[in-house]
Amino acid sequence: MNPNPVLEVNRKGKVLYCNPAALKQFPDIIKKGSAHPILKGFFNEQGKIENEVRIGDRWYYRPSYFVRGKDIKHIYCIDITDRKKAEEKLRDEHGYLQSLLNTAQTIMLILDTRGKIVDLNPYMEELSGYRLDEVKGKDWFDTFLPGHDHKRIRDLFKKAINNIQTRGNVNPILTKDGHEIYVEWHDKTLKDNNGRTIGLLATGQDVTERKKAEEQLRESEGRYRALVENASDQVFMFDEKYKIVSTNSAASMLSGKKPDEMIGKYISEIFSKETASKNIKNLEVVFKSGRNYYVEEELIIGANKLYVSTSLSPVKNSESKTTAVLGVVRDITKRKNAEEELRERERKLKTIFDVLPVGVSILDAKRKIIYVNPALERITGISMEGLFRGDHKSRKYLRPDGTPMPAEEYASARAVKEQRAIYNIETGVVKEDGSIIWTDVSAVPVKFPDWKVVIVTSDITKRRRSEEELQKSERYRMMGTFISGIAHEIRNPLVSVKGFFQLLNDRETSEKDKQEIAKLAVDEIKRVESLLDNLLNFAKPSKGESIDSDIHKLISDCIILVKHDASNQRIKIITQLDADPSQLRVDPKQVQQVFLNLSMNALDAMKNGGTLRISTSYLKDQNMISVTFRDTGCGIKQEYIPRLFEPFFTTKENGTGLGLSISQRIIENYKGKINIESKEGKGTSVHITLPAL
Ligand code: ADP
Ligand code: MG
Repeated sequence: MNPNPVLEVNRKGKVLYCNPAALKQFPDIIKKGSAHPILKGFFNEQGKIENEVRIGDRWYYRPSYFVRGKDIKHIYCIDITDRKKAEEKLRDEHGYLQSLLNTAQTIMLILDTRGKIVDLNPYMEELSGYRLDEVKGKDWFDTFLPGHDHKRIRDLFKKAINNIQTRGNVNPILTKDGHEIYVEWHDKTLKDNNGRTIGLLATGQDVTERKKAEEQLRESEGRYRALVENASDQVFMFDEKYKIVSTNSAASMLSGKKPDEMIGKYISEIFSKETASKNIKNLEVVFKSGRNYYVEEELIIGANKLYVSTSLSPVKNSESKTTAVLGVVRDITKRKNAEEELRERERKLKTIFDVLPVGVSILDAKRKIIYVNPALERITGISMEGLFRGDHKSRKYLRPDGTPMPAEEYASARAVKEQRAIYNIETGVVKEDGSIIWTDVSAVPVKFPDWKVVIVTSDITKRRRSEEELQKSERYRMMGTFISGIAHEIRNPLVSVKGFFQLLNDRETSEKDKQEIAKLAVDEIKRVESLLDNLLNFAKPSKGESIDSDIHKLISDCIILVKHDASNQRIKIITQLDADPSQLRVDPKQVQQVFLNLSMNALDAMKNGGTLRISTSYLKDQNMISVTFRDTGCGIKQEYIPRLFEPFFTTKENGTGLGLSISQRIIENYKGKINIESKEGKGTSVHITLPAL
C-alpha cells in the first residue's frame, strides 16, 4: 500500500478520488473539499505546482498534475515531515549556535586544514583586539602565537587535523597590542559529508588569571612551606583553650618534645610554669583583641636563658571571631647578646670620649653634627645643644697666618673631599666677643652608613701664645746682638754731621761750601732715620697680616742689620738675587725674622771669617721662590742634623735653640719648605721655598 496520500480533484476543489492513505491522514478531505488546507488556492495556479504544505504537525511535498483534457488534477502528497523537522532543527540549532558564538565568553575559532583563519567569534575579537576581517585568511600561527611556540603548536594542530583530539592544552596567544593571554584549548575536527576533514573548530578559555593565581599560589605555598620548615622559627597554633593544634619540628627546641607529643596538649603540660604563664598572657591579648601581637622576652629553658621574639596572629572564623592563634617564636638570643655587647661598647666608648681632653665630633653626610663630647663644648664655649643646632657655623675661622679660612679648607671638608685623614690643621676660631681660640684640627673620613667624618679638635691657644712669646723674645735677643752693629751705623753719620756743623760755624767756609755741607748733612741724617725706622720696624710686634712683599727687599733689609757685624768678622756677604718675579704674600716681619735667624747662624758659624752667599731664584713649574743661605762656616755634625728644628736644640753656649724651630713654623705656615744641608768643616746651606704671588 502506498503510504503517501494521492488525491484526484476537479477545478472546484471537489475530491473525486482519494487513496486509503489520504483518507487515513485527511479524514475530512472529502467533506471539506477545496477548503481543506492541502487544496486551498490550488486552482488558481497554472501547470505543475510544487509546494510544501504544513498540515497539523506534518509536512507534505505536493507535486500535482492536471490530467490532460479532463479538468482534473492529481495531487501526490509526500510526507516530508521528518526532513522538515531535521531542517528546522538545524535552523534552530544554527541560530542557537550563532548566538552562542556571538555571546559565549568562550573563544571560538575555525581554521582550515592549512591553519588559515576561517572564522572567529566576537569574544575572540574583543580579547585579541583583532577584528575578524583583519585576520580572516591569515595564518593562525604567524598571527597569534608567540614565536617560541610556533613549532609545538603547529605539531599539535597537525595532530588535531589528523583526528587525534587535543584537549586542555594551554598555550599563550598574542593580542594585537602585544599582551600574552593564556588560553586553554579544546579542538574538534570539522568534516564534510564524505567524512573528509575540512578544518578545525577550536574553542578556548582565557585562563590568564587562573594561571597567574596558580603561580601565585605556588609561590606563596612555597613561601609558606619554607617559612614553616625553616628550622629556626618555631610555629605553634593554639586553640581557645590554649591547646596546641599544630606545630613544627623546630618547636621542639623550646619544649624538648616532638611535634606529635605536643599536638593536643595544653600549654601548661608542655612548658615550665613560668613560660606557660607568659605564653598564656600573650595569647589572651590576641584572643581578646583579635589583633596581631609582637613581644620580645626572656625565657628560662632548662638551665639556659633565652631571648625570643613571639609574633602572634589571630585565626578568625567566618564570623570574624578569633578561634585560634598562630604563633611564630624565634630565638633572638644571639641578636640580643650582640645588641647588649654593642650597647656596652658604646657605653665604654662614650666614657672614653667623655673624659678625653680633646674635642671629638662626628658629622653625618649632610655635615650635621651627630655627636660631640664634653671637651668640645669646653674648647668652643658652645653648649652641646648649640653645636647640634649648628651655632658654630656662624663663626669665622682663620688660617694660621690670621687670614680668613674658607670652608673648603676646613680639615673636615678636606677629609671628606680627599677621602683621607687630614691631620693638624691649625685653625683659629673667632668667638662672638672677638677673641680667638687657636685649635689644631684633624679629621678622618669614616665609612659607616650614618657617619661621615670624625673630627678631633685640640685647643692650642696656650701653645700658640707661648710660641708667640718665644718668637718675640727671640727677636729681642737678636735685636740685642745686632743693635751694637747698628750703633756703628748710626754713630758714623752722626760723627760726620757733627763735623758738618763745625764746618758750618767756621767763618772760613764759603757760602757755596756751606750749602753743599748742609745737603750732605741732611743726607746723612736721612740715612740714620731710615736705619732707625728699620730698627723700630723690627722691634714692633708683627700685626700678623700678610701683604704683598718683595723678597729682595726683605733680604736687603736683613743685610743692613747684619752687615756691620759681618764686616767686623771679616765675612763677605754676596747676593745673587735672580728670582723674577720676586713677589710673595707674607707678613714681612716674620720672613725677615727667618732671614735674620739664618744670617746670624751663618755669622756664628764663621768666627774666623768666610762668605755668606744669599741667592734667590724663581721655580717656574711650582710657582715658588727659592732662597738659599750658604755659608763657608764650621758646618754641622751629621748626628745633629735631624734635631736642628727641635725647639731648644742648640750647640751654642748662649744659644736658645729657637731660631730654626721658629723659622720652620713660619715658613710652613706659608706652605713653604725649609731644609738644611751641611758638611762638617765645609759649610752649611739652608734652602727655603715659598709660594710666589
Ligand atoms: P741657636 O742659634 O740659638 O743655637 P738655632 O735654632 O738657630 O738656635 O740653631 C740650632 C743649632 O743649629 C745651632 O746651635 C747650631 O748648632 C746649628 N746651626 C744652625 N745654623 C747653622 C749654620 N749655618 N752652621 C752651623 N751650625 C748651624
Ligand atoms: Mg740661631
